Amino acid sequence: MRKKIVAGNWKMHKNAAQTSELLSELIAKVPANTTAQVIVAPTFVNLAAAVNQLKGTNISVSAQNVHQTESGAFTGEISADMLTGVGVNTVILGHSERRAIFHETDALIADKVTTALKHDMTVIFCFGEELKDRQSDNHFNIVENQLKDGLFQIDAKSWEKVVLAYEPVWAIGTGETASPEQAQEMHEFIRETVLKAYGKEIAENVTILYGGSVKPENAKEIFGKPDVDGGLIGGAALKADDFVAIVTAI
Ligand code: PGA
Repeated sequence: MRKKIVAGNWKMHKNAAQTSELLSELIAKVPANTTAQVIVAPTFVNLAAAVNQLKGTNISVSAQNVHQTESGAFTGEISADMLTGVGVNTVILGHSERRAIFHETDALIADKVTTALKHDMTVIFCFGEELKDRQSDNHFNIVENQLKDGLFQIDAKSWEKVVLAYEPVWAIGTGETASPEQAQEMHEFIRETVLKAYGKEIAENVTILYGGSVKPENAKEIFGKPDVDGGLIGGAALKADDFVAIVTAI
């Protein structure tokens, strides 16, 4: 059985006090016996405090980014060693906002993946087509290339540490969700792409999350699809009740 995961990407929201407050609510409200592994990704400055606050709970912490090199003169950047040093063992890479706003290319993302894996971190690898790609019926190509160019440099063993997150850019923060059928169609294609490159066992065991305007109202139907193993949640992860409703929709 592959792992079910619901992860909250907090993006650049919540200061220290607000982070602590939301975590307290989640600790109180996330059921102890939840099927999904629950992950939250606060901003860098709040990661260490989040790790401490969540000790002994069933909620774990992810970073939203990491630098691709080990250390050096890279003002403003954070290394994998610094993250694991404060107990953060998961990182979101390749998010569409990093790609679009911060010009991260597939090659750069591939380097970040390699570095994170070297530090034994779990990578939540994000990818997905833009609206124009879907309109021109190019979405399968785009997704296949993002996987090949950003991720498929890893060896078979590393897949234990990889979670895929398909996030169609046109559905992120727009209120527009891919229909459960569109999500399933793409997730099936993704699993098949992994199968062709790495074989059946890896393809069947990899967790594939859907992301893009997941809300309490649509989570159950999306998570009900056979190749959707959970979600990467943006906006709705910022309110405890909404996030918990999504976590329990698995
Ligand atoms: P959203 O964001 O749920 O607000 O659409 C998802 C994401 O960016 O990971």
